[in-house]
Amino acid sequence: MKLVSLSRPGTRETFPRERLNPISGRVYIETYGCQMNINDTELIAGAMAEQGFLRVNRPEQADVVLVNTCAIREHAETRVRGRIGELQRHRSGNPDLVVGVTGCMAQRLGPELMERGRGVDLVAGPDSYRGLPAVVAAMGDGSLARGQALLDLDDSENYEGVPQVRGNGSTAWVTVQRGCNHRCTFCIVPYVRGSEKNREPRAVLEECEAAVEAGYTEVTLLGQTVNSYQSADWDFARLLRTVSELEGIRRVRFTSPHPNDVSRELLEVMAEAPTVCRQLHLPVQSGSNRVLKRMVRRYTRESFLDKVDRARTIVPDLALSTDVIVAFPGESESDFGLTLDLMRRVRFDDAFTYRFSPRDGTPATRLPPDDTIPDEVAASRLEQLIALHRRIQREINEAEVGVEREVLIERPARSPGDMLGRTEQGKVVAFPGEREWRGQCRRVRLISTTGATFRGELAT
Ligand code: SF4
Repeated sequence: MKLVSLSRPGTRETFPRERLNPISGRVYIETYGCQMNINDTELIAGAMAEQGFLRVNRPEQADVVLVNTCAIREHAETRVRGRIGELQRHRSGNPDLVVGVTGCMAQRLGPELMERGRGVDLVAGPDSYRGLPAVVAAMGDGSLARGQALLDLDDSENYEGVPQVRGNGSTAWVTVQRGCNHRCTFCIVPYVRGSEKNREPRAVLEECEAAVEAGYTEVTLLGQTVNSYQSADWDFARLLRTVSELEGIRRVRFTSPHPNDVSRELLEVMAEAPTVCRQLHLPVQSGSNRVLKRMVRRYTRESFLDKVDRARTIVPDLALSTDVIVAFPGESESDFGLTLDLMRRVRFDDAFTYRFSPRDGTPATRLPPDDTIPDEVAASRLEQLIALHRRIQREINEAEVGVEREVLIERPARSPGDMLGRTEQGKVVAFPGEREWRGQCRRVRLISTTGATFRGELAT
């Protein structure tokens, strides 16, 4: 594929030259949420570029403002509502401005977001991005009324053939799977992204090759339960191994796996393929079997701990991270104690910890009201969990001080003269370096830790 740089600040393009159109407008896109949403923004930007829209970095420069949203927690939606309000001031300089909301929150709330006075001209869900640019363009020239809702979920939409305008990081996000076949009772994802859809392996491999050709050092394979990937006789272990062997690829990561689909074959690929990073995100959510059952996570505390043991046995030097929800309805003190106990046993390198956030339409909201955990109890549990995790993380990272690691350099650090990068295990290191080193790897000695991140120096 012939690639072109559109030389826009802050972006590195993987956009085919033959698909460039004359500029028909300027689009500003703001992204909230997970890596999947970052990659969806790249898709939206690519689809908009095909229609002739140039991506700009500031809303005041734009004819179209799109807010690509997350619906996983109430807090994320509250932030977006506030931001949509703020963006309205740009209408005074541009009365024809189109403001659209895309992504999971758009799918969840739909037309409600466009009610009078809310300042939203269109909503588009995660399966509607292919048709979005034409609708936006028609709205901009007045040939289509404002108030359009593009919300059909489409079992066959994998966005094959839609080019992407990638960000300027070292990692190329490559979605291999959209949607989810699980129905964890707290989670809104299956309702806003639909059931699991896996891309053809050939399409994934071509996209990875194009990313490497465009200069990306690292590829991260994305899916809601990425390791349940299946396409004909390709499972995720085979896909990962094949991607890891592509010429020019330096590092491969993947997220987010489901514990049940962490197979022996997958762990063996992680152990054997030198380009696959030894970092595994294993969302546990709770350490109590009673809560796991009510969450419909489909594993037990014991089977999860077995999986952790197996992963650590097969993949040496493995870093483990997790997600935990506290105060799920009905969680007792002893359930929470089991979560703390599991955290002490596993000693995760990193943990993303949350308070349960009820999402309308999910089964957890139909649990008896008496099961709701009082705010002060939920806050206290979260505080305890965070404190425990930080202590463990500090202990793990202090033991790393003095060790040399290969660091992939991602961007300038806040401290002048320093660059920021990640080790294979995903640990963040700041060390003195040059801006031109971005996307390159260096051997770095870890010389101190804040507990969560490291300071380093070039190893001689
Ligand atoms: S596996 Fe569960 S938590 Fe993860 S996206 Fe699917 S439903 Fe949500």
